Amino acid sequence: MQATQTTEKPLTQVKSQKDLHKEVDASGAWSVAQIETLFALPFSELMFKVQEAHRANFPDGDVELATFLSIKTGGCPEDCGYCHQAARYDADVKANKLMDLDEVLEAAKAAKAAGSNRFCMGAAWREPKDRDIEKVTAMIKGVKALGLETCATLGMLETNQAQALQEADLDFYSHNLDTSEDFYRSVISTRGYQDRLDTISNVRAAGMSVCCGGIVGMGESREQRAAFLARLANLSPYPESVPINHLVPVAGTPLEDQKPLDPLEFVRTIAVARITMPRARVRLSAGRQELGRAVQAMCFQADANSIFYCEQLLTTGNPEAEQDQELLAELGLKTKQSCKAEVLV
Ligand code: SF4
Repeated sequence: MQATQTTEKPLTQVKSQKDLHKEVDASGAWSVAQIETLFALPFSELMFKVQEAHRANFPDGDVELATFLSIKTGGCPEDCGYCHQAARYDADVKANKLMDLDEVLEAAKAAKAAGSNRFCMGAAWREPKDRDIEKVTAMIKGVKALGLETCATLGMLETNQAQALQEADLDFYSHNLDTSEDFYRSVISTRGYQDRLDTISNVRAAGMSVCCGGIVGMGESREQRAAFLARLANLSPYPESVPINHLVPVAGTPLEDQKPLDPLEFVRTIAVARITMPRARVRLSAGRQELGRAVQAMCFQADANSIFYCEQLLTTGNPEAEQDQELLAELGLKTKQSCKAEVLV
């Protein structure tokens, strides 16, 4: 069988590729007004622009499957208003200690068998202690040895901790900006926006790739959504992975009564993320189940090209793996894993 060529560059190159981001460098920083103009385009015009960006940057059209595992759940001292893991909220979550290495590796093997290519390990900490880093680095090495890409999200990182994770060969560190700077204080008070930017900077300085996005539908305005995307797109370089969560209000949290964002506005948000960060993997994250198949299909049309797959997410459930595979097959979308397999044939 003839090999299918892939033009997406290997991960090892992605880490150091400044040229991926020349679209932004060449045209200067995105202004909030420019991004609002994209949001306001007629829907068909917005989709046309998305498809141009898609075909120029992801001709294989594959979808990355990332499995998330909560390696330490609940009891978090932070006050993120959307999160049921914050100890101060009366949400229905049981706090657990850090999982054992063996349990994590079992979950990673199952994720790989189900078709995932990335395994993300998340811990509900404000920041890890150095002894936590030691345990997590053992997990990273074990997951890496299974042939999976690795990602971790452990809270704020100091430079030495970022370095230790990089030395364990962690591919991605995930740390969200969550929203725009001016809306941020409406949602979180226990850590500042600059703290988040500092962690992202520490991750970059250590040489790891960045996974950074946020949550929409928390009551922010369109202008604030545009400002959030501008902040992401103007990071230099912009993140390689951009998870966009659709808020799922969780009982017991301050946002439990938040009115849902219009699904078409969510689709527009995905599209604008693609146009402003053309080489990023834009990931549909929390909230997919609530969006349903039709809206998810529109999000893929708007060029989301990564999903969280299989595991329970931080704040909400996720569609079953079989449902995801059925939807992708129905839409004629290949997974990143299946494209790799074709290249190897
Ligand atoms: S989002 Fe993370 S940091 Fe914020 S409360 Fe939840 S677990 Fe803690």
